[in-house]
Amino acid sequence: MGRRPASPGSPLRSRREFLGIAAATVGALGLLSACGAGTSRTPVATAGPTTRPTAVASSSVAATATPPRVSRPRTSVLLVTIDTLRADQLRSYGQQLVQTPTLDAFAAQGARFAWHMVHQPQTLPSHGSILTGMYPSSDGVRVQLVDKLSPTLDTAGTAFARQGYSTAALFSCSVFDPKNCGFQRGFDVYQDLSFGLTAGQPGEMLKSSAGRTTDAAIAQLRAFGDQPFFLWLHYIDPHCPYVPPAPFANKYDPNYHGTLNGGWTTVTEILAEKLRPKGADLERLKSLYQGEISYVDSQIGRVFAELDQLDRAQSTVVAVTADHGESFAEHRDFFTGEGIYHPRSLYNTELHVPLMLRYPPRIRPGTVVSSLTRAIDILPTLLELSDQPALPQVQGKSLTPLLEGGKDDSPRAVFSAMSNSIFTSVASEGWKLIQNNATKQQHLYDLANDPAEMDDVLPANRAIAAHLSAQLATWSLEERIF
Ligand SMILES: [Zn+2]
Repeated sequence: MGRRPASPGSPLRSRREFLGIAAATVGALGLLSACGAGTSRTPVATAGPTTRPTAVASSSVAATATPPRVSRPRTSVLLVTIDTLRADQLRSYGQQLVQTPTLDAFAAQGARFAWHMVHQPQTLPSHGSILTGMYPSSDGVRVQLVDKLSPTLDTAGTAFARQGYSTAALFSCSVFDPKNCGFQRGFDVYQDLSFGLTAGQPGEMLKSSAGRTTDAAIAQLRAFGDQPFFLWLHYIDPHCPYVPPAPFANKYDPNYHGTLNGGWTTVTEILAEKLRPKGADLERLKSLYQGEISYVDSQIGRVFAELDQLDRAQSTVVAVTADHGESFAEHRDFFTGEGIYHPRSLYNTELHVPLMLRYPPRIRPGTVVSSLTRAIDILPTLLELSDQPALPQVQGKSLTPLLEGGKDDSPRAVFSAMSNSIFTSVASEGWKLIQNNATKQQHLYDLANDPAEMDDVLPANRAIAAHLSAQLATWSLEERIF
């Protein structure tokens, strides 16, 4: 499937200072080999007394498809996904208010990808792309809680398991239950950390707190022993409802005197359009979201400290990213209502998320990549950095050339779609086109000068819009979007 955006003849102007070539990249890759002596695969223990594995699927796909290789991989991989984390909420991405010292330090220790975007602003479809390197429309997980991963595909779990890694997935809400998604294949441990929690109200979404999730992560890291591991660690705290613990609950709006809280009742009333927070109430809602982010940040530091304690920080590729962002009524909603939470739109409030990579042997501290990058690029990058074979199914491409010095002969376009297929978008070389496929209405945004996407500049840039529209049409046809 030819998914590379057409570059020759593109009317898109060059923006080396922004999204075109990774001009800000200062990193360089070493050429260290990461393969070592042989070993056999060993199951790992479960992660702690407060959690239990969900029905752990056998890794039969991984175990039977290809015999384990003889040589032992030395490089481990830790993939951290923080649900609902907007890029612009981190200080390393320009935020001034929210305190995220752990992630700020982490970004400085490795590479930060300034313009990383996802393909669908919803938990299961976006995690599917991260774990398979494929668009939701190709891996089978497009409609949340309806679609399951195609059973013939590899995931990060099966790919690393096949190479002799111990594998574990620790996730903080039950949406990842095997019956909902099929992500469990390949994982020796597949744990729902929200198991056993009690709902305050009927239907309330249960969230494992960052503290509880981190406790399980530390136990799992210890249980791996000296085995090479792949650990996918999922935090849910910034996802609504927003109920950060003290002192984070009032950290960013201490003088608020209204009645709005971030709890489940607020969520249901906003989604039912019975509550339309404005002004100080809307700011209060966002401050609670920001409190959740600072709380997660405070806990992730314990995971990184454990890696240091186990003397595995140097031999572990660590990636931190998010599945989507969150809207706070910045734009008119794609559906109805006020445009709060997700999935509400294809604006950057929901598509632009962080991606940071740390691997001391091969990534120079302080690297910043300014090119557009995508969720489907993460898995091929993790495989390459850990010297594991590439997967033929992958539609993304490894980001390591960008780390090597910014050379990217084929700049990426980011294609995204809502699950209903009515709305699609493409971002490329500093521009972004959002299209309503029902009405054929289009909006064009100049990301270089208007990253918040406030001004539709389509009337003055019709040639650019037409070029992007053609790319979007080709991708939509290939992906059978409609
Ligand atoms: Zn999510």
